Amino acid sequence: MTTDHNTNFDPYEFYAALVAHKLIIPVGVPGAFGRSAIFEDILERFNALVSAHSADDDAQMMTFPPVISRQLLEKTGYLDSFPHLCGTVFSFNGDERQARELSRRVGEKEDWSNTQSMGELVLNPAACYPVYPTFTGILPVKGRTVTMLHWVFRNEPSNEPTRMQSFRVREFVRAGTEAQVSSWRDMWLERSLGIFAKLGLPAHSDIATDPFFGRAGKLMADSQRKNELKFEINVPVISKTAPTACCSFNCHQDHFSTPFGIKTHNGDVASTACVGLGLERIVMALLKTHGLDPTGWPATVRKHLWP
Ligand code: ZN
Repeated sequence: MTTDHNTNFDPYEFYAALVAHKLIIPVGVPGAFGRSAIFEDILERFNALVSAHSADDDAQMMTFPPVISRQLLEKTGYLDSFPHLCGTVFSFNGDERQARELSRRVGEKEDWSNTQSMGELVLNPAACYPVYPTFTGILPVKGRTVTMLHWVFRNEPSNEPTRMQSFRVREFVRAGTEAQVSSWRDMWLERSLGIFAKLGLPAHSDIATDPFFGRAGKLMADSQRKNELKFEINVPVISKTAPTACCSFNCHQDHFSTPFGIKTHNGDVASTACVGLGLERIVMALLKTHGLDPTGWPATVRKHLWP
């Protein structure tokens, strides 16, 4: 039998195949599809594998909702660097008369956007953001490590399946001295390559940059690349020549430590780093590499996910 699932790289065909195999469920808005039980099982198994590999890391588990304080984004400069990705929560706060007007406009399919006003919340754009304010103060000598599994939002509607508006990231964050966090980041890059190799994924790491907005963003990306602050692990999913970033490994220097007053045990400004594993993208990388029916995946791969 021949299969073409890992030689043909059309993103829209891959999306259609994920739908046809009942792995994802369209909802009529690009990048916001549902996930089936099979898709979720793979995702949870991968997440468990990551937990097993990091069991001795002494990482504290935290969970925050998919909304965070708008002030947190304002304080970290997110709106300067990524205004195009942000999702701000607007709600109705009017009186009875304005409510009738809202109802009328919805009924008559008129624009009702100016009946809404900005609130205190934004959709969380990166799994690690809510953690930094909890680090304020003096860190222990060993620093601190936290792990989370969060839904994040990016305003980038696309019919290309790996470009989602809402997705989950298994994240690890480390705060400590520059040396502590950079060696930890490098350890995770090697560890993640090892996990991907066990799963038979054709993964490669590369230096990377964040999708900073506009012309000023280009300079920030250049500086990020020059200082080797960001690495990604890429796997071909929708393109052989432009593989999909499935995890990122980021050193932030004092980007979060300065605004939130995070200090090392001897009182210096601390450094932070984070590792984010894009769970849906990793599931898609597995489906692309090994086929759309996980019961047919190689035993050498299955034994790590369904031990
Ligand atoms: Zn992060």
